[in-house]
Amino acid sequence: MRRFGAMPVVDDVSLSIAAGQVTCLLGPSGCGKSTTLRMIAGVEMPDRGLVRIDGQVVCGDGAQIPPEQRSVGLMFQDFALFPHLCVADNVGFGLVHLPAAERARRVAALLERVNLPGFARKYPHELSGGEQQRVALARALAPEPRVMLMDEPFSGLDNRLRDGIRDATLDLLKETGTAVLLVTHEPDEAMRMADEIALMRDGRIVQRGAPYNIYNAPVDKAAAAFFSDIN
Ligand code: ATP
Ligand code: MG
Repeated sequence: MRRFGAMPVVDDVSLSIAAGQVTCLLGPSGCGKSTTLRMIAGVEMPDRGLVRIDGQVVCGDGAQIPPEQRSVGLMFQDFALFPHLCVADNVGFGLVHLPAAERARRVAALLERVNLPGFARKYPHELSGGEQQRVALARALAPEPRVMLMDEPFSGLDNRLRDGIRDATLDLLKETGTAVLLVTHEPDEAMRMADEIALMRDGRIVQRGAPYNIYNAPVDKAAAAFFSDIN
């Protein structure tokens, strides 16, 4: 639970996400999606509640594990690469604890995976938006997090580019057994991408289930209306 002032903006959110699956946190603007994600990541403190990752309580019950020790990766819409570092150094940023040769090998393999071989020595300003986004993805994947938290990370891209990058990204994450929590306010995106949808409204999860179950049997009129403009 999280309050800002007197109003709880996230209240009664109980959510478990499975390895190798995409769970979409879906709901209208302002319902508390980003706040929920930030609490899981550890960059926002809940006033009450527990966060558990891989069986370990990382927040609550007296525990407060800092974000960098939670094995979570974050991808936001504003993915901000370090402008003064080349692509390889951006991707390898979270791997400084590894010996240089091992780090270089991992970075090269990641750039291969996001389909940017040969980009290692380029700088962010030399890349297109979609290329920058793939670098950001490689950077988020590099530490091999158990959980990937994605807050509308594809929404800045043009339509054609977005579908390709989004599908490749999610396939890669599922393949590596990562648990993905993808925030969106677009029902059709959730319908297409999710193994499971958690429908959120006014700081609460109002319904959970497989996309077609939610679509076919919305919990109430507001949920039905939210899905009604899918074509
Ligand atoms: P969107 O789809 O527009 O990104 P969201 O579901 O991600 O919306 P949140 O960003 O989690 O929504 O915000 C939930 C509510 O909490 C909003 O009403 C917002 O104005 C409020 N809020 C978020 N952060 C703060 C803050 N630091 N201080 C005060 N209020 C905040
Ligand atoms: Mg948000």
